[in-house]
Amino acid sequence: MIDTKEALKKYFGFDSFKIGQKETIDSILRGADTFTVLPTGTGKSLCYQLPSYLMSGQTVIVSPLISLMEDQVSQLRQMGEKSVIAINSTLDFSTKKYVLAHLKEFKFIFISPEALNQEEVFNVFKRLNISLFVIDEAHCISEWGHDFRPSYLQLKENLNQLNQPLTLALTATATETVKKDIEQELFATRDFNEFIYSVNRENIYYQVEECEDKVEYLKQFLLTKNSPGIIYFSSKKEAERVAMLLNEILPYSVAFYHGDLSGADRIKIQQQFIHDEIRILCATSAFGMGVNKENIRFVIHYHLPDSLENYVQESGRAGRDGKQSISIILYQKGDERIHYYLQDESYHQKKDLLFLKGKTKEDLKKYDNSLTDIQKKWLNMLEKNNWNWEKFEQNLNSKQFEKRTKTQKMGFYIENKSCR
Ligand code: ADP
Ligand code: MG
Repeated sequence: MIDTKEALKKYFGFDSFKIGQKETIDSILRGADTFTVLPTGTGKSLCYQLPSYLMSGQTVIVSPLISLMEDQVSQLRQMGEKSVIAINSTLDFSTKKYVLAHLKEFKFIFISPEALNQEEVFNVFKRLNISLFVIDEAHCISEWGHDFRPSYLQLKENLNQLNQPLTLALTATATETVKKDIEQELFATRDFNEFIYSVNRENIYYQVEECEDKVEYLKQFLLTKNSPGIIYFSSKKEAERVAMLLNEILPYSVAFYHGDLSGADRIKIQQQFIHDEIRILCATSAFGMGVNKENIRFVIHYHLPDSLENYVQESGRAGRDGKQSISIILYQKGDERIHYYLQDESYHQKKDLLFLKGKTKEDLKKYDNSLTDIQKKWLNMLEKNNWNWEKFEQNLNSKQFEKRTKTQKMGFYIENKSCR
């Protein structure tokens, strides 16, 4: 058996595997199709890069975003890997022609699902010597996930036509429904290994703090801290107000960030935060996507997060470097009310709901691209309710629904409360 630990040191300079990596890599090297779910920032790329070095053929990586592709390409190039190329819409005609003519010479080939399905491209792929076919961000295959990409649905047929190369699917988010979709689309006809790791991050200490005066609590907490952090708010106004208050009290810079700022301001603030010129950011959930700042030591939720999914995403921005970090939810009696309010707002989205009325899952598949996010969210809930519209509507209109949402939320927080 190959010594993967030695390979880890040799090719990447790391001493030990992070959680989930070794299991995934061993499975691939045994020649088994593999499906791995690991939290963001835990090193999923290495799960295909390392086996790739130990196998003779080429590695194809399907990726949904040009920026994600570019990240991985430059990461590999920084490591000294030259045999790497990305095929996407940024290639001009003659470059693409050249690349396709020489594709056999590349070890790592990144490609968007759309590009893969262009006939002249796919014909070249049929002649490659693919030792590993990677589907990154595999949740894009599911209509019930948040980033559905119709062209991911063609991967099944692509794999067939490529004679079922060894396949690895990677993602950070897979609810039960999304997981099932990935399994059915990619692995229905073959055996595969599955490694699912909880979103619970070992180096984040989860805490709920009940307090009378949140600003006072923040003041006390922050005066003893000298490290970067994010404070999340449900309201833009509150984010601004608290940022200004803290700015007066604290010896370092605090800024606010939300969707009403201009694009230029948002980029500037994000950059300053990444470079530690701004120490603390008071933000709404508009902040965070694609921001990879490693040394965020704490994430505080000034208001209750609006969903479990958001809470996991937002608190998970702490401690990307693996060092001990903390997630705190500030709770004051009555805070749940903001969710009643938000729920009222969703009542106003009833037109979105009505759009769904009487439609079957099959009907709705035809709409895929034109669904708004809120419609997709509702679809997700409908599916969980077994598509029983009436039952769903009853639930939605009853007080019970509100109550259940609230206790479910609170139940989760209390479960994660480490101390007070
Ligand atoms: P993901 O795709 O899971 O979000 P990445 O593959 O982009 O994460 O990796 C995140 C970071 O972790 C990268 O900077 C990578 O170099 C680093 N990393 C990966 N594996 C290890 C390891 N075994 N030891 C230390 N750092 C690692
Ligand atoms: Mg990744």
